[in-house]
Amino acid sequence: MAPYRCWAEISTRQIVDNFNAVRRVTGAGVETMPVVKADAYHHGAVETSRALVAAGARWLAVSNVEEGAELRDAGIDARILVMAGVLSQEWDEVAGRSLTPVLQSLEDIETAEQLALRGGRRLRYHLKVDTGLGRLGTRAEPERILAAVAQAPHAELEGLMTHLASAADFAGAQSVEQLSLFDALVQRLAEGGLAPRYLHAASSSAIAYGRRGGWKNMVRPGLSLYGYVSPSSGEPPERLLSVEPALTWKAAVLEVKDVPAGATVGYNALFRASRPMRVAVLAAGYADGYPHQLGNRSRVIIQGRYAALLGAVSMDLLTVDATQCPRLKPGDAVTLLGAEGEARVDAAELARGAGTIPYTVLCGIAARVKKVYV
Ligand SMILES: *Cc1c(COP(=O)(O)O)cnc(C)c1O
Repeated sequence: MAPYRCWAEISTRQIVDNFNAVRRVTGAGVETMPVVKADAYHHGAVETSRALVAAGARWLAVSNVEEGAELRDAGIDARILVMAGVLSQEWDEVAGRSLTPVLQSLEDIETAEQLALRGGRRLRYHLKVDTGLGRLGTRAEPERILAAVAQAPHAELEGLMTHLASAADFAGAQSVEQLSLFDALVQRLAEGGLAPRYLHAASSSAIAYGRRGGWKNMVRPGLSLYGYVSPSSGEPPERLLSVEPALTWKAAVLEVKDVPAGATVGYNALFRASRPMRVAVLAAGYADGYPHQLGNRSRVIIQGRYAALLGAVSMDLLTVDATQCPRLKPGDAVTLLGAEGEARVDAAELARGAGTIPYTVLCGIAARVKKVYV
């Protein structure tokens, strides 16, 4: 029986197992900072963070101040790194919630100094450097960074970080170049008397494929905690990390009907039955995050067997081939993403079909899809 129209069953134990797998790979001396932005890639930021903190995570990373505040509201007292920039009106919240900002520019360092002065206490921050991603982060010369840090004595440079543009690509040299720029900067800062406690550059791909030069003493896994690793290109040294998905996405059957040969199914008659068929209508659609691009080119799992998606993905409904499932009835549960016995559909498969990446499949699962923790 389906308890809801459309829901996700999330295993925080699997997330913790994946976290421990990352820690085993990176080893002692490397702090593993789980990335729980975007509602923990739809796994639920609060529940996921609670489980990870209970399992020993001392740091969590989010994108923005609002996400950090949500964790504080839930009583989570681990260190929280805010990675993707702070708006001017958000700085008070950074200090008030004891969030640790990633500063993206030398001007940000000045802002942090003012904030620390006003608040009457030291403000620890991480500084992001742009080594080639060309997105957030400073491109300032080491001398200017040293000067800016020196002019902000009430703020403390606790960490230095960068982000790789092509971490899973072992054919090109971009990661090697980015990391050597980063290492050169670290050395110049050290020569200027500045040695941040944390250095970090690696997200899931750099961990999973053993790009050890990027691990430094802190890593920032996101996707891998949720059980996925992006495919690599070129030849990675070795695949070190093995993880399993933690989220199963299900929907209720709303109606089962028999249609004759020649019947069309869904918008624009995208599917036409070549033989008599049984069609099941499911309570999920693109408003739930099921990719619209998967019309006619996906499959779900019904009673342990694959069933093809028929026709277009509608806003709130999917139609699937239930011809092989004579006992299927309204109220039964069907798996959109997950495994039943040997049958398995994962976010990587849906992403390939939709011409996108597993990140967007997970993050795209809509807020109205209930979360059930198992
Ligand atoms: C999202 C993000 C991560 C995590 O990346 P995954 O590929 O999901 O492991 C790490 N660092 C930064 C800066 C990010 O924005």
